[in-house]
Amino acid sequence: MRSAAASSRRRASRWRRSASNSPAWPSSPSRRVQNVLTAHQVSGERTQKHEHYLKGSIYCGDCGSRLLVTHAKNGKGVVYPYFMCAGRHAKRTNCLRQAMPVADIEQKVEDYYRQVQIPEHIVTALRHMLTRQFDDLHAASKTERRTLVAERDKLRDERRSLLRAHHSGAVPLDLLKEEQDRISRRLAFLDSRIEAGQVEYDQAKAHLEDCLELAGNAHAIYMSLNDSLRRVANQAFFERINVYEIEHIDAVTADHGEPFDVLFDPAVQGDALASDAELQQGTGAKPADVAGLNIQPQVGPEGLEPPTITV
Ligand SMILES: [Zn+2]
Repeated sequence: MRSAAASSRRRASRWRRSASNSPAWPSSPSRRVQNVLTAHQVSGERTQKHEHYLKGSIYCGDCGSRLLVTHAKNGKGVVYPYFMCAGRHAKRTNCLRQAMPVADIEQKVEDYYRQVQIPEHIVTALRHMLTRQFDDLHAASKTERRTLVAERDKLRDERRSLLRAHHSGAVPLDLLKEEQDRISRRLAFLDSRIEAGQVEYDQAKAHLEDCLELAGNAHAIYMSLNDSLRRVANQAFFERINVYEIEHIDAVTADHGEPFDVLFDPAVQGDALASDAELQQGTGAKPADVAGLNIQPQVGPEGLEPPTITV
């Protein structure tokens, strides 16, 4: 199943690249995105009524094809919506997947959210570990910041001395002005660098905090959303949702999107718990490296300001 998941992930990434008409969903929601979701929910705005909210997220785990919605009569002649494998339907694959009642799959996706939602004590451990890693990553920029602040303090002193010298008659007015202009230009540059570095760090940390909060409340949040917002949540948390058939029972798993692929990873969660336990014992072990957590790109303007969500 692991290799199937890997190949389906490759397929997903190919599909995403080719889906040029798809909206540019953020790879991970922040609190701001969540606020947007809530705002839309309150306004009761619903779009794409004609499409099921799982469409586009949900795939046949057996052959990797997308699942389509169809309507069929059950034994009593009542028409119900079903998911069917597009590969089987178009005879593109040898898939033998039977149609799946939509309501059953909706329920299993809800259950999956419950399953991946991170318990509070693990969220806390992850927060500790990732914050320490953040601090490590930013140690270099902090050193640079200290250098900039030192230069700024020195220049401010220089400016004061210059003014005192002018008042005592030692520095003529034209020279005072020239020197003050030079100092002001350099100070403006230093101020902007110092401020930018701090804002970047604070926002990256806030973004991590938002994602942890979402991961720790994934099920509750999902259950509170209407259909069109569930679509947004599914796109944010998962690259794709796969429905497998295991011993005649439908089973839902998912390929997680960034950064939830790291946060939901049991190995990472285990590292976080172990790291916390070691710290509590005072051994002060360095936290395990989480190579998969792609923190840096989140710092960029695209990561910080999610595209406008129009649901
Ligand atoms: Zn299939």
